[in-house]
Amino acid sequence: MLKKLRNYINGQWMDVPDAQTLDVLNPATGELLAHVPLSPAAEVDRAAQAAAAAFPEWRRTPPVARVQYLFKLKRLLEENFDELAGIITQENGKILDEAKGELTRAIENVEVACGIPMMMQGDFLEDIARGIDEFMIRQPVGVCATIAPFNFPAMIPFWYLPYALACGNTYIIKPSERCPMTMQRVMELIDALGLPPGVVNLVNGSAETVNAILDHPVIRAVTFVGSTAVARHIYSRAAANGKRVQAQGGAKNPVIVLPDADLSMTTRIVADSAFGSAGQRCLASSVAITVGEARNPFMEAIREAAASRVVGYGLNPGVEMGPVITPQSRERILGLLDRGIKDGAQVAVGGHAKTVSGYENGNFVEPTVIHDLAPGSELARIEVFGPVLGVIHVDTIEDALNLINSGQYGNQACLFTSSGAAARKFRYEADAGNIGINIGVAAPMAFFPFSGWKDSFFGDLHGQGKHAVEFFTQTKVVIERWPSDWSRKF
Ligand code: NAD
Repeated sequence: MLKKLRNYINGQWMDVPDAQTLDVLNPATGELLAHVPLSPAAEVDRAAQAAAAAFPEWRRTPPVARVQYLFKLKRLLEENFDELAGIITQENGKILDEAKGELTRAIENVEVACGIPMMMQGDFLEDIARGIDEFMIRQPVGVCATIAPFNFPAMIPFWYLPYALACGNTYIIKPSERCPMTMQRVMELIDALGLPPGVVNLVNGSAETVNAILDHPVIRAVTFVGSTAVARHIYSRAAANGKRVQAQGGAKNPVIVLPDADLSMTTRIVADSAFGSAGQRCLASSVAITVGEARNPFMEAIREAAASRVVGYGLNPGVEMGPVITPQSRERILGLLDRGIKDGAQVAVGGHAKTVSGYENGNFVEPTVIHDLAPGSELARIEVFGPVLGVIHVDTIEDALNLINSGQYGNQACLFTSSGAAARKFRYEADAGNIGINIGVAAPMAFFPFSGWKDSFFGDLHGQGKHAVEFFTQTKVVIERWPSDWSRKF
């Protein structure tokens, strides 16, 4: 049924009167799924005021009581797992198994945040001087907000939401306007938790809504995930307004294949990394760098893996790759390929839009392998965010590392080898925040920070785990002296 999406503010579902709306389309079928309102600044203000009003009581709620809501949320997410995964596939296009995978990752973050009574503890040292003690405590920051991208509509809000709440903050989520239905359903589950009104709020919208968040004086901390251009904007504008901010940006992830790599494992894993979620993962392998004799066998095997990938509607069994998010995205990807070919790159397989029988309105792109990329060319440098793997051939691991370290991004770098020495050299020298050794998508578990370097990240503390606890708390240091003659009065 076609839905008009609403905001959730101060414990109430609210229409956004007179707001412009966008259509939310199923990228595999073209079907209209929902209308999403583009909230003006007044809606952000309403959410920020509600969150600010809820903060004093929520921060006084003991951590052990706060996490009870998260235990309940975990149960509700599990009970509604299949329905939520189906919504992700319908609005985003990724196949159902991938949708389930991201939902599992979301739930893992709830589990980790349930440990906040341990993780939020401070430090205490007696006798920093005779009879004087010093300790550091962690207190919540206040009203926090997250601005999320389209490609993980469930997982990415959960890099932040559970930690923000567990630490005693109140919170606003602004989902992607392209995939807003998942968080709408999640918020219905959150509504059933019985949290005090204003502790969690959802505001739909796009750039105007985001800028209102960045400028709002009550919002103290902002987390962002999306493209590098917008991440840079978020980081500078939020910081200029005195906010704590972390902004994760785009990527161009290289994977090195050495001649001693296990070829069949490597090919399977690299193909899953490059073509999984139709290449719309910030950890998708985008450039394979083959070293020496790895060149010909890898090219042959990856060509075959791409050609045999089953493309279609992600709700149908047996489908291995869905569409890209919009027709505009498909045009952008095909345009990049055209220009790459003019720059001298060779198409090994794919390179075109794909028509899937029964889903002629879907935004499908053929799984594509393109080789002989000139290292400085646009296709070798720019994030494609589609099912395209570029291949570059070099002679040595040093050449490959130089290529990686000269790139603009630093989200992930992977190496396939059977040599421990090569692996150590690689993890030591590669300029990237997430490293995979014989791994194609080195996505950190919830108890590790989701790292990212260079133009893939602006800030210092990352999402998830201990970093999230540090980001969502501010430290207070107390030095205490209690004169000993005071105790003699009793
Ligand atoms: P996007 O930058 O277009 O949008 C992200 C968010 O920013 C959305 O909520 C959108 O409403 C808002 N936004 C867009 N334009 C804006 C503007 N001009 N001013 C203010 N706000 C604006 O990103 P996307 O297309 O939704 O997501 C894909 C991108 O996200 C890719 O570049 C991908 O690499 C990146 N990503 C990075 C990570 C990571 O961990 N580094 C993870 C997932 C996705």
